[in-house]
Amino acid sequence: MREICYDNQSGRLERDRIWQLAMPEVDEGWVYGETAKSAVEYIKSCALNSEHFHDISWKDLQIDLLGGSRNGLGDSLLVWDAGAVLVTVDFAERLRQSALTGYSLEAVVRIAVNQTTVANPVLLLLNAPNTGRDGRWKVVGENECPFCRNEPIICPACGDWNRVCPGCGKRTFGEKEGFKVREWPDMYVVDQALFRGANLIKHGGIFFVDSVCKRWMEESNFHPVIFKPAFANVA
Ligand SMILES: [Zn+2]
Ligand SMILES: [Zn+2]
Repeated sequence: MREICYDNQSGRLERDRIWQLAMPEVDEGWVYGETAKSAVEYIKSCALNSEHFHDISWKDLQIDLLGGSRNGLGDSLLVWDAGAVLVTVDFAERLRQSALTGYSLEAVVRIAVNQTTVANPVLLLLNAPNTGRDGRWKVVGENECPFCRNEPIICPACGDWNRVCPGCGKRTFGEKEGFKVREWPDMYVVDQALFRGANLIKHGGIFFVDSVCKRWMEESNFHPVIFKPAFANVA
């Protein structure tokens, strides 16, 4: 088995500047969503492979609403299988009145089946343009398809992963000779420069906030949410 690992050692890394915005697990008693039907557009810009994408744009997200046995519906919920974070219209209004920048609120959510006791919730997708794939994922050893050795596993141009080899068509992850992720990082690294004055960004498909955003969210009692420490690379 070959491995991909995450580099959170190199660079000039600082704590207490950036946090990963995460959501509780679905078994923690909050309302959560599951995708019933969705339509997305893949945003592509890779110079090497026209199938690679660095972001998706939601056109429609129909969800089943579930859970909430213990905690009900807060300001936010996770559509776990889509990795999408939704917020209530009430919270969206509070957010719009803040001075925070970087995020978007998208009216693409429809509720297919509501299995909770929450009556007629109106939800918006919390989003931000993805600033790119996380370039800190590295292949241990040769960055090449283990079967044909003709194609890279991690694209050198855009950082997308070739989970199916574009050369030989074999699955490159999970098979006996394929790759696996060594471990998911407990601390991600984000280049400070990617924020460009925004308070909330998406990088590698994950939300990160600066200290201004974190403080505002804490003071306005945004919940449920988990602020996981991340490293800022200030190099
Ligand atoms: Zn191959
Ligand atoms: Zn690429």
